[in-house]
Amino acid sequence: MYELEFNNDDLQSLQDSFCKANDIYMVCVSRKHGQLTSFSGSKPEEDFVDSNFKESLQKEIVDSFVDGAPENIVEPASAEDYFMYRGVVFRGEKDEIVGTWLCFAVDKEMAPASLEFPNALRTTTKIRFDKAIALLENLSKHYVTEILRNEHLKKRLSQIQSEEKEVENKLIKNELMTEILRLMESDESFTKVADEILAFSGKYIECTNTALLQMSEDGLSADMILEWSEGEEKLSPAFQKVPIGNLPFMNGKPYTISSDAALPQAFSIFFNKYSIKGAILLPLNVNDSTAMYLCFLSVNKERQWSVDEIRFSNDIKNILHTILIKKITANSLAGSYSALEAILQNSGYGVVVIDMPKKQILYKNDTFGSMFDNPIDKVAIEELLFNKNYNLSELNGYSANGSGKWYDLSVADIKWVDGRDVRLITFYDTTDIRNYQKKAEKQAQTDTLTGLYNRQACEKDIAMEYHIATKLGKEFAVLLFDIDNFTTMNEGLGYRMGDDLLAFIARSINDISSIKGKCYRIGGDEFAVLVDHENIKNLDLIIKRIMNLFENPWVLNDKEYNCTISMGALRAPAKISDSSAILTRLTIALKGAKEKGHNSFEFFDDKAEVIVEEKEELDEDLKKAVSHGCREFKVFYQPIMEFVDGVPNCCGAEALVRWDSSERGLVMPSGFLKAAEDQNLIGDLGHYVLLEAAKSCKHWNDFGHPEYKISVNISPVQLVQKDFVDRLDAVLKQTAIDPRNLTLEIADDFGPGAMPRVIKALDAARALGCRVALDNFGANGSAINNIKKLPIDTLKIDKEYTSQMQGDAFAKLFVKTVAELANSVDVDVCVGGVEEDNQINMLGDYQVNLVQGFYFDKPLSKEEFGKKYI
Ligand code: C2E
Ligand code: MG
Repeated sequence: MYELEFNNDDLQSLQDSFCKANDIYMVCVSRKHGQLTSFSGSKPEEDFVDSNFKESLQKEIVDSFVDGAPENIVEPASAEDYFMYRGVVFRGEKDEIVGTWLCFAVDKEMAPASLEFPNALRTTTKIRFDKAIALLENLSKHYVTEILRNEHLKKRLSQIQSEEKEVENKLIKNELMTEILRLMESDESFTKVADEILAFSGKYIECTNTALLQMSEDGLSADMILEWSEGEEKLSPAFQKVPIGNLPFMNGKPYTISSDAALPQAFSIFFNKYSIKGAILLPLNVNDSTAMYLCFLSVNKERQWSVDEIRFSNDIKNILHTILIKKITANSLAGSYSALEAILQNSGYGVVVIDMPKKQILYKNDTFGSMFDNPIDKVAIEELLFNKNYNLSELNGYSANGSGKWYDLSVADIKWVDGRDVRLITFYDTTDIRNYQKKAEKQAQTDTLTGLYNRQACEKDIAMEYHIATKLGKEFAVLLFDIDNFTTMNEGLGYRMGDDLLAFIARSINDISSIKGKCYRIGGDEFAVLVDHENIKNLDLIIKRIMNLFENPWVLNDKEYNCTISMGALRAPAKISDSSAILTRLTIALKGAKEKGHNSFEFFDDKAEVIVEEKEELDEDLKKAVSHGCREFKVFYQPIMEFVDGVPNCCGAEALVRWDSSERGLVMPSGFLKAAEDQNLIGDLGHYVLLEAAKSCKHWNDFGHPEYKISVNISPVQLVQKDFVDRLDAVLKQTAIDPRNLTLEIADDFGPGAMPRVIKALDAARALGCRVALDNFGANGSAINNIKKLPIDTLKIDKEYTSQMQGDAFAKLFVKTVAELANSVDVDVCVGGVEEDNQINMLGDYQVNLVQGFYFDKPLSKEEFGKKYI
């Protein structure tokens, strides 16, 4: 079970939005951590809630929930009909209680008229309250599921990391052993070889110093004859002719001393003298007496030795010992041969020595024998060994005749004990490492929800198929589809059911035999299918089979759900070979299919290719223009008029950007803003417009029009960027504009998920003193309750309604009603797109005080605006 990690800020923001949207009050408490969120609302509201939602009742609610019990909602009795109380609990993986929402709401209608309520108190009805509570239960479940999913992922990641570390260590050890094998064969002196081994092994075991102590001939003192250290000061200069009495370990026994060991006094004195915190001290005996000590030291650093490290240090000691013996008995062939054999037998690698011309195996160790211990492999390996033409790099990654085993090989031409030229070949078994790599690669490329491969795997497979199909001169195809209106469906179904539906669909697609294993989930509800060159002849059939799957309802939990898909397809090889470019083009085809309406299909063709190329050029030019300091962008100003006693007076302007491109001429915002958002250039471009507009307005304010205000359009992408508020603050400071004269215009066409972040940014902007206008209201299906949800000062009615007011009774009523509604919540109204006299006349009857449109003026350059209105 996991200890859930809550981000209290997230919980708080969830609570703030939820309370505001549903007109209720609540806080979140946990038995273990106490109160997790603070009250959302003003002080008078908080006092009111505190006095009517007693602590004893809160405690009673919290205590009424039991781990593992099915109830998630508790409704305590209320003495007054007009006060409503609920507890909503959310649970972890094993149904244990993680937190409880304490909810309180007021139904003012039910209260006696004599009762006094604070002014801003939020009120609701019983029906709304019940709905809100049901939604809260659902939301909390989803929230916990998300957190749990993150926890699982984190755990898995750390497991993968430690497995990777293990594999890495194994690889390093392999390299080290190879190097040591080479050194064993070298003709260099013992000191030279031992010096290198000390350095290798010191680095591998990550100690601060490794050293070799040599006993003096008289046996009374010892010298540090070799030392390696990394970073730490060397001990060897002071470690000469040290009396044996001061070296308590030098008694022929091995010692492994970790930092937490209780040391006998003599050891303690020795360790303190050299600031040693941990040591492995191993004797090298020659002819039954101790000649040397191999020391792995941790100076000034606490150290606990692991079993692997102790084993490793012993291996190194054995190797040094063998080399020492070999060198001592250098003149004895037999001696060196048996020493070498002892090492080779114990090295854990397959070692074979061959006489190439005679095609004769001179030596093989037991490991080599067991590696290829079957008749087929034996033949295969002999062919390999005596094949004169092999080259080392090709041999790496040798697989023994389909045995499922993998080896890395190293080859060295050496002199044999009798002086002839022989070849030494070492086989390292890398099967585990390879299998691990394969497994890790597969995991990284699998989508956990559906079990299908993910986008990464899709791109890789497309690249591979492209390569094969081009070579064979054949075609293949890629399909991309998504579920129509999945977001709405997902919200309706609940996220868990939505996930089940995706998994169900994934399974059904992957069951189509000709595309099995070639289906990918590459985004939320986006699936791709690769129809390879062998199956391309069935393309039409495959498309039909996929579309047919959606003709019948999907059954989840005994209920039927209907959904359709839209699909884009591309036949390749086309001009492009890059997998991600193929997917981009498919996205365009999919968009085309969607534009045709639901349940449709579209091929990406040459016409579409031209559009893509044009877009790529535009993207490139735009990137250049923004990175060159936005100099090509010009800010225009369209006056906004205020009716004072029925007479329109200019009261400021809306800043509208144009791109005066050296390549393309004057480009209007519709021609480049979307591309700027997609390419993440909108932050810099928007900042430039904000700064220019604020400078202009400050200039007008200083030159006779202190009341003029400037409205600047802010893209939702720009608004939710992390540094937006800081950059806004910088503009205010840099220009010294009165913040009340700066209005940020935002449209409400951002996704529902972005709402909390949008509100947070707008609240921060208002805290700096700026004003906020909700732009294009009525376009793109703006929700009427956004007027209440979003912190706004002005509402701008979309010009589409203005143009239709004349002939369309609905448009007229819309403008009138929205204006009344806005006024009733103390929000200014501005009507845009005013072009004609009769529109002005009509607006005169409504509660509209601000207007804007070609009737007064088109957007003007800064100079033109100055001439006319300053
Ligand atoms: P918007 O915020 O709704 O701006 C008003 C648009 O309507 C402007 O188009 C303006 O020229 C046009 N307009 C004004 N009066 C009339 C009228 O009487 N009749 C008609 N038919 N049109 C009128 P423009 O300049 O092409 O801007 C289009 C949109 O581009 C703006 O719509 C705004 O959403 C966006 N935009 C413009 N500048 C910026 C900017 O600096 N940043 C961001 N993020 N968006 C901008
Ligand atoms: Mg605007």
